[in-house]
Amino acid sequence: MHRNIANSSDTIVSHAKPAATATDTPEKNAASSNFLVQVVEQGLAEGKYASRHWSGKPGPAAQQQAGPLDPAAIRTRFPPEPNGYLHFGHAKSICLNFGLAERFGGACHMRFDDTNPTKEEQEYVDSIIESVKWLGYGWQFQNENNLYFASDYFDFLYAFAEKLIEAGHAYVDEQSADEIRQNRGTLTQPGTNSPWRDRPAAESLDLFRRMKAGEFADGSLVLRLKIDMASGNINLRDPLAYRIRHAHHHRTGDAWCIYPLYDFTHGVSDSLENITHSICTLEFESHRPLYDWLNERLAELGCLNTPLPQQYEFSRLNLTYVVLSKRKLIQLVDEGHVQAWDDPRMPTLVGARRRGYTPAGFRLFAERIGVSRSDSLIDYTVLEDCMREDLNIAAERRIAVLDPIKLVITNYPEGHSETCHAPNHPLKPELGKREVQFSRELWIEREDFAEAPPKGFHRLYQGNKVRLRYGYVIECTGCEKDAAGKVTTVYATYFEDSKSGTPGADTYKVKGNSHWISVGHACAAEVRLYDRLFKRANPGGKLPDTPEGETRDFIDDLNPDSISTIRAQVEGSLGDVTAETVFQFERHGYFVADRFDTKPGNPVFNRTVTLRDSWGKAGQ
Ligand code: ATP
Ligand code: MG
Repeated sequence: MHRNIANSSDTIVSHAKPAATATDTPEKNAASSNFLVQVVEQGLAEGKYASRHWSGKPGPAAQQQAGPLDPAAIRTRFPPEPNGYLHFGHAKSICLNFGLAERFGGACHMRFDDTNPTKEEQEYVDSIIESVKWLGYGWQFQNENNLYFASDYFDFLYAFAEKLIEAGHAYVDEQSADEIRQNRGTLTQPGTNSPWRDRPAAESLDLFRRMKAGEFADGSLVLRLKIDMASGNINLRDPLAYRIRHAHHHRTGDAWCIYPLYDFTHGVSDSLENITHSICTLEFESHRPLYDWLNERLAELGCLNTPLPQQYEFSRLNLTYVVLSKRKLIQLVDEGHVQAWDDPRMPTLVGARRRGYTPAGFRLFAERIGVSRSDSLIDYTVLEDCMREDLNIAAERRIAVLDPIKLVITNYPEGHSETCHAPNHPLKPELGKREVQFSRELWIEREDFAEAPPKGFHRLYQGNKVRLRYGYVIECTGCEKDAAGKVTTVYATYFEDSKSGTPGADTYKVKGNSHWISVGHACAAEVRLYDRLFKRANPGGKLPDTPEGETRDFIDDLNPDSISTIRAQVEGSLGDVTAETVFQFERHGYFVADRFDTKPGNPVFNRTVTLRDSWGKAGQ
């Protein structure tokens, strides 16, 4: 399905359209390219998840075991940290997690991993919820509303931490952050035990309680898991479980001044929620032994329900011409390189929505790129092609003249107009035709006329005939220019018996075909033409001929011409277009009425994506 272009260490996957045959259903494609589908199928066949009890809401072992068998065949979750807006990479994870649950009669939980008080905001929570819903997914399973916040588990997490201390699996460390770092060792050298590692459990428990009570300053003490300072896996060298942060949390306010770390929170949250498949990106592979260690210890202590969740890793989405890292996206917004998070050039889901990208296009993309464990770099055109494929079916056709110049039909009566009929969708005749008015003065594209036609030019030049699409055949008779030599008006005569759809019209054989709008029936519109935000395929990538690891600043790779705003003429009916409707402007591409700036009588269109090919070919 993919064509792989070998390119140093990365594989760029460019688009090869899968052969669409009657037997080649999307489901089959997904099955063949998503290894996690096989993992789930196998687990279900082995009855791996069948014995799980579930109380109907997250909770510890005793609560779950008192409940009935879990009605969800599997449980997955999408666990973003609410510290930014979702990007295209998240779309892959969303389609994967919600998609697997949908496919196998399971539930996918929406969980905010919000244990870091300093970087998280309600604005991000709201936007993430909106984007996941926009992609067409939900977290309702039967009568469960599976929307959760890791911060809701703070009481459980704290209680479990105490249990671990009592069992000798955790201790309070008084070393400074620097000392902890130094004593952690390296990839080749084992770490050194903390002098506090073997302090009595009662002492750690007392200190931990006093940490919670707010007796200590930030950074003065931490709770660590007691695993193995000599482990070959650095994540197992007594990782931190809790730290002191006298900070306000967006949901729990000032209730806590100690906060659990990601690795401590994540597996526990999965277990509390009865997750079967904890799916994450490959950089967490080396955290899996810790994930398992912690869940196993807490299951032994009777805290967590079994069977325990299992972590599976897949390769993250990398896409050419964009950056997919919240940190970099925040920088683009903060430094004003884009207008906002929802700037249509941003690779965020809110940006994509404003640009006219569609949920169905994203799902198609996720299916097409598949899910694997090997690193790859997907060519941006794969995503664009998915949007085109969806929009080619979904979008009605309209006419827009983006660079208008006036055409006068000199033998057409002044003050007169007549109706022509243009199909709304060539692939869906059931959508019918709409009326467009023809008259003596029309707008045509400036590029459709040439004073001195280059070789192979089939549109308007003196003496040449073209068909005005859905209208008449005309012959160009000349033009008028201003003092600067710029063409201001083109002149032509029309052939009365050549009207499209009338008998004999097709006896006129012309090579050129132009679109037009009657001047008296057109509406002016602001049209924003978007191009790639970055001019290089790998923004901030490696510098050629430089020492290993040196990279460019991704900001230097911004495309200075990523937006241009023009004044176009569109069909009059588009004057009161509904915001967010996407059209194919014949010959130009797909355009969406801007969600926020479109006002009655004042349409604003964003170019979603150009047509794959030129006039007369794709999408016509
Ligand atoms: P970033 O690196 O941009 O900050 P993140 O991984 O820190 O992203 P989270 O909010 O923690 O962002 O991510 C939520 C989920 O989305 C995680 O399960 C993560 O693995 C997944 N995810 C994030 N980026 C990608 C990507 N590029 N491709 C696939 N999945 C991704
Ligand atoms: Mg993260």
